[in-house]
Amino acid sequence: MTDDSLQGRVALVTGASSGIGAATATVLADRGARVALLARRQDRLDELVGEITLAGGTALGVPVDVTDADALTAAADRAAATLGPADLVVNNAGVMLPAPVEQLRTDQWQRQIDLNVSAAMHTIGAVVPQLVSAAAEGRRADLVNTSSIAAENIFPNFAVYAATKAFITHLSRHLRVELGAKDVRVTAIEPGIVGTELQDHVTDPGAREWLDDTRDTVEWLTPQDVAEVIAFTAALPRHVNLQQVTIMPTRQAT
Ligand code: NDP
Repeated sequence: MTDDSLQGRVALVTGASSGIGAATATVLADRGARVALLARRQDRLDELVGEITLAGGTALGVPVDVTDADALTAAADRAAATLGPADLVVNNAGVMLPAPVEQLRTDQWQRQIDLNVSAAMHTIGAVVPQLVSAAAEGRRADLVNTSSIAAENIFPNFAVYAATKAFITHLSRHLRVELGAKDVRVTAIEPGIVGTELQDHVTDPGAREWLDDTRDTVEWLTPQDVAEVIAFTAALPRHVNLQQVTIMPTRQAT
């Protein structure tokens, strides 16, 4: 039986060229949403849009560097002009670059802050008017922010990444109250380890070793696992807001 629980919805997904974002865009389109996919790599976006279209869905690839606030606003406007105003935003682009703080990898601190914090805020700024007006029309409207279990737990050498995710989780709690008054739901998704390209960017040998070790003992989540939870969250009745969802691999302790 076909699941069309998101029929009529218009979604915008950042970080849609790989991992959780790509899987989420695909699942949302499969459930009936029209989906804008935002990321930098046009070839990956073209490929995904092709796959979604072939499967009978509607998708638009919008290549953009989301750390460029003006370009991001233009991308959100282009998506709205083509697909209609967004009522389901998955604010997901992110990067994880662990390293001992004494190494003073200020370049990596900045990259994480620019993408995980500043670009996430600019994404919210670009889409909130669309979400508020969708809700005012009586439609379901969702802002789903991808945080991490790192927002809650302590992972040595992941301090800056974890702090950016704590920002996202705490921000989400506040925005849920602020926007909930306007019937916009806000959700923080906090996954444990998911097998994606995120781990490929890690340069610190200690962190790489830790990740490799967990792979031997824990069956990591797949991007599809997280995508299914996001689709479920968005399909709930309008008066139900999953505020914070922690998704762990069964064998991952913290
Ligand atoms: P991926 O590396 O697979 O995906 C990251 C996405 O972000 C890519 O689509 C990438 O596309 C995009 N991106 C990176 N920089 C930019 C930029 N400047 N402008 C636009 N897009 C950008 O990792 P995940 O799918 O794992 O990560 C998605 C989210 O999930 C992140 O916020 C991450 O912190 C979070 N998360 C991941 C976990 C995991 O274990 N994998 C666990 C908990 C949370 P492109 O390079 O084409 O721009």
